[in-house]
Amino acid sequence: MSNHFITHLASTSFSVNFVDNNLWHYRLGHPAEFPLKLLSHVISQVLHESNKTCSICPLAKQHCLSFPHSTSTSTQPFDLIHCDIWGPFSTKSLTGSSYFLTIVDDHTRFTWIHLLENKSQTRTHIQAFFNLVETQFNAKINTLRSDNGAEFNMNHFYATKGVIHQLSCVETPQQNSTVERQHQHILNVARSLLFQSHLPLQFLGDCILTAVHLINQILIPILQNTSPYEVLFKSSPSYSHLRVFGCLSYANTFLRNRHKFDPRAKPCILLGYPYGMKGYKLYDLNLHTVFVSRDVVFHENIFPFALKYPVFTTDSVLPLPVPMHESTLPLLDPLLTNSLPSSSSNQNSTSEPCISSASDILPLEPCIPQPSRKSSRVKHTPGYLHDYHCHLTKSTSDPTSSSTASGIPYSLSSVLSYDHLSSSKKFFSLSVSVLVEPTSYTQAVKHEEWHEAMNTKIKALELNKT
Ligand SMILES: [Zn+2]
Repeated sequence: MSNHFITHLASTSFSVNFVDNNLWHYRLGHPAEFPLKLLSHVISQVLHESNKTCSICPLAKQHCLSFPHSTSTSTQPFDLIHCDIWGPFSTKSLTGSSYFLTIVDDHTRFTWIHLLENKSQTRTHIQAFFNLVETQFNAKINTLRSDNGAEFNMNHFYATKGVIHQLSCVETPQQNSTVERQHQHILNVARSLLFQSHLPLQFLGDCILTAVHLINQILIPILQNTSPYEVLFKSSPSYSHLRVFGCLSYANTFLRNRHKFDPRAKPCILLGYPYGMKGYKLYDLNLHTVFVSRDVVFHENIFPFALKYPVFTTDSVLPLPVPMHESTLPLLDPLLTNSLPSSSSNQNSTSEPCISSASDILPLEPCIPQPSRKSSRVKHTPGYLHDYHCHLTKSTSDPTSSSTASGIPYSLSSVLSYDHLSSSKKFFSLSVSVLVEPTSYTQAVKHEEWHEAMNTKIKALELNKT
């Protein structure tokens, strides 16, 4: 392998060294220092971390939210649930979602999130949530609180369930403050995940899903320094599976259909933790598909998409233009990253089959087409075109065709154009040489080249004796 190739690989990776010093701060979605320190009894490494050096938190406008005094009157899970919808996104998620429905249990503060393509799907998800509570928790929802959104207007359904539907007054969202605050918290964490990974906005849905997964495991004072997960499930959550969102990952390829010299792993990006499955949700950098695998090696301080979006600007959080190219993903190579810190999730040596649902095959192109680069180099006409009126076919309205570009202050091309000619006449005009052919001996003898041509012709006639 040539040194040039190694150098090229080095230029295609983006490593963030400060992840090493704030690993759990990154893995947990950039929590504030206090809730992070609360985890030190289960994650000893956080004692050695300091998120004061984090460059992502200020970008995400993440600040330590003051926890409200509990005004809850609920005494057990599902006495009261808060519901709200946020959206639409400026850019649809990978699965075409534009909204998300948030459901917060008042007693445990556990949050469920559903990505919606449109608001009309709210009814289906609410009804499914009622079934989930009855089946999985053997409980019944007593009261549902929401704003006045028409999507929550299901009076007949509430009546059949014996549920009280509490509505906040018009234009007083503070009456629905629990879920409003949770929205703010979710968006803060989701933004930090988006910014740390440098992923485009199509991945915002995955950022939101991961944010909720993390928020449910963070210890909060309002729950006496326990997590929503622990209060709801009566057991501590596991943190060992958490990895840095958006980092470079290598998923083991499947034994079947793998030849001796096929790669043993494929480069991916971590997109979160699929609900109800033991494994990691990954984005295949080569095939642009989403799949789940348990056999993954992570490089948690390398973010492949940072090459496409190295600097965060206002434009970076605006809707993306229509993709134009498919093969402009950052180049990745496992050889380059072998020397970098990595962590493995080899929970099971056997590979996890791919998810093959339609939503997993995504026509996503994560690359934003770059504006065409305009060279500052002065362009010169090739030598073989010096005798032709090449510049006269350019539009005179094109500022790039100005005479100064060719170095001639007032060239003919700046005032004369052949653009108004028909195609046939334009081709004819371009075939005419800029040299004027003399019509008499008197004119020809004044030009050295014609004088030389005449002498050559005379010598040829003499040699031929003609
Ligand atoms: Zn941070």
